[in-house]
Amino acid sequence: DRLIEAQSQGQEESIDRAMRPKKLDEYTGQAEVRAQLSIFIEAAKGREEALDHILIYGPPGLGKTTLAHIVANEMGVNIKSTSGPVLEKAGDLAALLTNLEPGDVLFIDEIHRLSPSIEEVLYPAMEDYQIDIMIGEGPAARSIKLDLPPFTLIGATTRAGSLTSPLRARFGIPLRLEFYITAELSQIVQRSAKVMEVSLDKSGADEIAVRSRGTPRIANRLLRRVRDYADVKHDGKINASVAQQALDMLDVDACGFDYMDRKLLLTIIDKFGGGPVGLDNLAAAIGEERDTIEDVLEPYLIQQGFIQRTPRGRLATDRAWQHFDLNKPES
Ligand code: ADP
Repeated sequence: DRLIEAQSQGQEESIDRAMRPKKLDEYTGQAEVRAQLSIFIEAAKGREEALDHILIYGPPGLGKTTLAHIVANEMGVNIKSTSGPVLEKAGDLAALLTNLEPGDVLFIDEIHRLSPSIEEVLYPAMEDYQIDIMIGEGPAARSIKLDLPPFTLIGATTRAGSLTSPLRARFGIPLRLEFYITAELSQIVQRSAKVMEVSLDKSGADEIAVRSRGTPRIANRLLRRVRDYADVKHDGKINASVAQQALDMLDVDACGFDYMDRKLLLTIIDKFGGGPVGLDNLAAAIGEERDTIEDVLEPYLIQQGFIQRTPRGRLATDRAWQHFDLNKPES
């Protein structure tokens, strides 16, 4: 597993859970999203209504699940969680829905992976707080309508574009999460260090933050690895120099890139003269799946301006050449 992978790895989910802020004002960054949500929450509470359905989208590790829990907490309601691939049968979803209390949140992670038959159940549930369920089989089968309590569906997805349009249209509040800036990530790791009772000064937090690819989950993971290093090689205290040594040893460079990122960039530069190179050629050259490049490797490299996506393929930017101290040949 990559140290800088944005998806949670292994038992990391329980660690994620322990690190999660519980209140909207402890949620760092995403100012626009927070401002919108706090108004919608206050309004719904004032009217004693369930909050409108919310779709949260953005790359992994940016705080979608955290935000869903915060919404439930701020509304003072329960949250039930499931995910698109887990919900196989319409009956599973019906069971979840009929067990909700008024106002509760149902959180569906990876909502773009719901099967079409489950989506069908969800539409009337979202729109009219009703579900149709089939009783019996064959010619004797009939459908009955069940009323549901008013509830809030919160869907999370890394790919808003993969949602079917009827599903997307049923969310009243779409929220898009952005990569975090260094100062915000620094605040996040400083808060996590307090929770973990780790001694971390601001310079150390900044150093971890720059290398975290704009992603809180990565920042928290790097903090844990740097703490191991500080415990074993130093006195457990983390400052900029300790963080730097640790991250260098862990092969996370000053831009937060690891060997995979460097391989991708150097392949475009060395094998394809800086590009443009088509995605399939690039995938074959580095021995990775096309999807891995598109979903995992390149979003951060593009956002940081190291790669450009052009109609003729991927292009290494001047910044990429400079990163390796290479001179771009005059074309
Ligand atoms: P996602 O669901 O988008 O993959 P999570 O909500 O599981 O991401 O967040 C991953 C980790 O990052 C959690 O441990 C959480 O505590 C932390 N985190 C995410 N966003 C924030 C934030 N805005 N402020 C503080 N911590 C955050």
